[in-house]
Amino acid sequence: MRQNNLLASTLREAPSEAETASHRLLLRAGYIRQLAAGIYTYLPLGRRVLRKIENIVREEMEAAGAQEVLLPAMQPAELWRESGRYEVYGKELVKLQDRHEREFVLGPTHEEVITTLLRGEISSYRRLPVTVYQIQTKFRDERRPRSGLLRGREFLMKDAYSFDIDLEGLDRSYVQMYAAYQRILARCGLNYVAVQADSGAIGGEGGSHEFMAISDIGEDIVAVCSECDYAANLEQAEVHAGERTPLQLNGDALPAAEKIHTPAMRTIQELEQGLNITAEQVIKTLVYTGGDKTFAVLVRGDHEVNEIKAARAMGVSEVSLAGYEALKDTAGVESGFVGPVGLSMPILADRAVAEMAQAVTGAGEKDYHLRGVVPGRDFSLDHVGDFRNAAEGECCPQCGRGVLHFHQGIEVGHVFKLGTKYSEKLGADYLNAAGRKHHMIMGCYGIGISRLAAAVAEQNHDEQGLIWPSALSPYRVHILLMSVKDKEQAAAAEALYEQLTQSGIDVLLDDRDERAGVKFKDSALIGIPIAIVVGKDAVAGKVEWMDRRENTKELMNISDAAARVIQSRS
Ligand code: ATP
Ligand code: MG
Repeated sequence: MRQNNLLASTLREAPSEAETASHRLLLRAGYIRQLAAGIYTYLPLGRRVLRKIENIVREEMEAAGAQEVLLPAMQPAELWRESGRYEVYGKELVKLQDRHEREFVLGPTHEEVITTLLRGEISSYRRLPVTVYQIQTKFRDERRPRSGLLRGREFLMKDAYSFDIDLEGLDRSYVQMYAAYQRILARCGLNYVAVQADSGAIGGEGGSHEFMAISDIGEDIVAVCSECDYAANLEQAEVHAGERTPLQLNGDALPAAEKIHTPAMRTIQELEQGLNITAEQVIKTLVYTGGDKTFAVLVRGDHEVNEIKAARAMGVSEVSLAGYEALKDTAGVESGFVGPVGLSMPILADRAVAEMAQAVTGAGEKDYHLRGVVPGRDFSLDHVGDFRNAAEGECCPQCGRGVLHFHQGIEVGHVFKLGTKYSEKLGADYLNAAGRKHHMIMGCYGIGISRLAAAVAEQNHDEQGLIWPSALSPYRVHILLMSVKDKEQAAAAEALYEQLTQSGIDVLLDDRDERAGVKFKDSALIGIPIAIVVGKDAVAGKVEWMDRRENTKELMNISDAAARVIQSRS
């Protein structure tokens, strides 16, 4: 490709709302342009990067035995009502009407469509298992589209779905997809960890893993063990049960709890200062509602409630903190002074709370706290469990030897064991060898292709621009012709361009009538890992080889440079 004709111009500045490196650099280097919030055009450079990722994904999906399909983006709303997700998906679902006022949605994901397809196509166990995949534009009206391609409202995803006759089959399909994901991400040059994840709203029975690109701008926190292979989302990470046996105090021997006047001491910090104590001595009481239940969760003052664990313990899908009014109604007091003593609702006590000897808690009365509260004596410890987030530096829940390190991560891929959630609702059944009807057992597997491009860009850049891993680079080599007016230079650059192109190498030739400085700057910004500079030494048959990542330059014969590029292809 000749850069003079390339539909991409570099920008000196990115719009101020572009805060993350990938967003800024992909805009500035001419990979993408924004059309509306969270909606982007992929310019030729951007399209090429996506194409590289798609090709890797296709190769690995085919190697894992998955078959490519392309499902409709426009789907009857009826189908989503049938699965029960029309309402559950909420405002993220993009809805529209056709000319006959029939309702449609634009697919944010394709469980409904694929399950309906299989229902019609397969009826016997003999034709299973089947795994299909597609690479397609998805639509989600995200509340906060952000960071360019990282969270778009229209984005490119590879989604795959497996159909098996039993759980063992699902396990096999899942492991195969998991391994394919590992190969895809390794080939894309991504630094990532695979973590156990909550299956969230899509999930059915069984496991789920997320593939997280390590990045400071990631929205998720992952806990990784320093010693073993344990890695989990913070939402999901268990707390090590610990070797300590809970204190077996004889509560009766301890003095009764004492009520103290604590006006304007609502937060843990205010209590620490006001009473000259530490957060470890305080019990935090948080009142939640979920489904039709109201309950309290107790954690130590220095710990954080894990709402997912609490919801699971209460058997509800989601919980939210009780607001001001609800708190007054249920706990009889406003926040800051709620406490477990005399509280008439189910109480989930975190293990660390059950281990406390004497604690400070809210008194259930405005401006008062209780000191010397003994868990088990002064309030019930009927529901003790792991209800908090793990903290950095704590012992690993799996091996018990290592400590947990926290990283921020960008979710680039997600694999779920769905079970029969959709096949049951949508009637995707098969007949087994005995002629009996069963629901197909499903798994689903997603990779954000456009998000992956941005995540790789997040991990591979410097202050001058992008630095693509060669597998994703839009071109393998960038030839920089220093002076288009110099006949010898131009001829040498053209000859090299022709030779490499003939050898099947993707080459970008900077044949623009621009100053050398501009060409170097743009080349560094675009981030093709190898640049070959055809300049004043061209008369002597020499060029400069520039390695973008290593930031090195090397003078060599043109023929050697060509041979090196051709060799590097394999
Ligand atoms: P998130 O928690 O980031 O919203 P999700 O759990 O909704 O992600 P899935 O439904 O599992 O995501 O989708 C599969 C993959 O699609 C994700 O792992 C991610 O790589 C990609 N993806 C999801 N939402 C977006 C988006 N708004 N923009 C770009 N990629 C996305
Ligand atoms: Mg989402």
